[in-house]
Amino acid sequence: MLLDRFGRKINYLRISVTDRCNLRCVYCLPEDYAPKGKKEEILSYEELSEIAYCFAELGVSRIRVTGGEPLVRNGISQFISILSKIPGIQDLAMSTNGLLLEKYAGDLAQAGLKRINISLDSLNPEKFSQMTRYGKIEFVMNGICAALEAGLQPIKLNVVVVRGINSEEVGDFAQLTEDLPIHVRFIELMPMGETGFFSEARRVPYEEILKSAGPIAPLEKNDWPEGGGPAHYFKRPGAQGTIGFISALSCNFCGNCNRVRLSSKGVLVPCLDGWMGVPLGEMLRKGADRKEIKREILRTIENKPEHHFMVERAKEELHSPSSRLMCSVGG
Ligand code: SAM
Repeated sequence: MLLDRFGRKINYLRISVTDRCNLRCVYCLPEDYAPKGKKEEILSYEELSEIAYCFAELGVSRIRVTGGEPLVRNGISQFISILSKIPGIQDLAMSTNGLLLEKYAGDLAQAGLKRINISLDSLNPEKFSQMTRYGKIEFVMNGICAALEAGLQPIKLNVVVVRGINSEEVGDFAQLTEDLPIHVRFIELMPMGETGFFSEARRVPYEEILKSAGPIAPLEKNDWPEGGGPAHYFKRPGAQGTIGFISALSCNFCGNCNRVRLSSKGVLVPCLDGWMGVPLGEMLRKGADRKEIKREILRTIENKPEHHFMVERAKEELHSPSSRLMCSVGG
């Protein structure tokens, strides 16, 4: 079992397969964003899987493939197929914006993907385009239908709530869980990336989102949808799906953090926030064997920060304008 020095059990690895994205969500990426670095620095699927094997041998049982947008990287279903065969991996999931999901959902399910999270910030076509800068909502809707048909369950919709853009839609999203077997998670806006978008005025705190979600009651942990994340769940009476909250600033969840992240260049990131990163990919390319990689993983997890500093950053008590880009570490 992988334990950090605060006694947290680490059993979850998020792998970002690319920094590229086919959207430019206003809170995530600048409009003129272009991934940094050379193409050759991106690890091959074989290299990423080699590192994933090391994690599995150390006791990690959950993997999420993310990005950037994971579906823009060629051969993603083959990668899922490799990961699904790693002994000890019991939960294999993906985060996507859903634009290309209609095309890939069937292949991904066949390759061994179990479940999927889809980012969808608005149910209104114009607002969706405003939030993503050029996304077409119908592609995402078709992707959701394809995922349901392919049996990628549970399906979770991730909604970042931004005052003045989609904050009036919290009730509509909550209503969706009554009509469909879909789990909606409201994500509090975080001060991440280099967009300059975050402000306290735009952030809608947990209590306010909770009130807007209408008549909901907390669920016992046993009734939460499958997953190992920081959300806690509620339900509307008689609803098919649930409503989750991920509130990094209102309710710090670091005490229960069970995850680390691997970037597409093979940098191991022990905390979503901050600058710490360990170049496992480089080590692998210089010939490190599994034993050496595993030693480095253990050392990094041992030094996993106790908590993030987003509250301080939000109040501008920290003068670094941002931490890292979400698209490098996969959210
Ligand atoms: N492209 C995939 C997707 O759309 O889910 C995976 C990568 S995306 C960076 C992962 C998640 O991070 C998305 O749900 C996105 O909304 C969220 N995210 C990005 N920037 C954020 C921010 N500043 N605050 C809160 N969530 C953010």
